[in-house]
Amino acid sequence: MTALLYQTDSYLKQFDASVTRVDESTHAVALDQSAFYPGGGGQPNDRGWLTYGDVEYAVEKVKRQEGDYFHFLEQDASLPAVGDTVHGRVDWGLRYPLMRTHTAMHILCGVVFRDYGAQVTGGDMDALKGRMDFEFENMRAELVTEIEAAINAEVAASRDLSVRILAREEAFAIPDLIRTKINLLPEGIQQVRVVEIQGLDLQADGGTHVANTREVGPIRVTDYKSKGAINKRIYLELEEKA
Ligand SMILES: [Zn+2]
Repeated sequence: MTALLYQTDSYLKQFDASVTRVDESTHAVALDQSAFYPGGGGQPNDRGWLTYGDVEYAVEKVKRQEGDYFHFLEQDASLPAVGDTVHGRVDWGLRYPLMRTHTAMHILCGVVFRDYGAQVTGGDMDALKGRMDFEFENMRAELVTEIEAAINAEVAASRDLSVRILAREEAFAIPDLIRTKINLLPEGIQQVRVVEIQGLDLQADGGTHVANTREVGPIRVTDYKSKGAINKRIYLELEEKA
C-alpha cells in the first residue's frame, strides 16, 4: 500500500520514498509513499520527476493498481530495484493551478447549493478551467451573472479549507455529507476523507485543494449550457496568477 502524502499535505512538492514493486513491462515502479496525485474525481494525475542516483526520470502518468500507486518512468534508463530510495518532485507548475481550479469547483458547488438548492451531477477539470453539471431547471444569463458574483465573493471572503480523515460512521453522521455522493462509497472503505470550506461546502473527496479560497483568485463563468431538461452545465476559468 502506498501512503498518500498529498492527502494530508497538498503543499508537499518533494519527498523520498522506497521502491516496493517494479513492473518492467510498463516501465513503472510503486513506492511506499508518494506526493503524486493519481487522478480521479475530475482532477488529472500529477506529473513530475523521480530521481535515482544520477538518473532523473520524467513521470507522466501515475496509476493505482491493487492499493499500490505506480509511477510510469519515461526514460529508457534501467529501473531502480525494490528497496532502492528515490526522490520525487511534483510538477508544481501544473499541480498548483489544479489545486486552485479544484477549489473553485467546490466554491461553485457550495454557492449553487446554498443559493438555489441545486445538486451537482458531474464535473471535469483541467488546469485553470473546469465545468460542472447541476440539477437546475431554469438557468438564464442573469442567473449566471449572479452566480459569478457570488463565487467571487467567496474568494474575497478568504475562507479556510480543512481536511479531515474520519471513520466511516462518523462521516455518515454529518447531515451535509449525506446529500453528496457519500452514500455511494463502497462497503469496504472504512475511512472517509472530508474536505470542508469553512461555512460553505463539505464533501467526501480525495483530491488536492488550496488552504484558503483567496488563493483561487478571480473566477470567470465563461459559458453555460443546457444538457437536457434538468441538467445544466457551467464553465469556469481562472487567471494564471491569483
Ligand atoms: Zn475536491
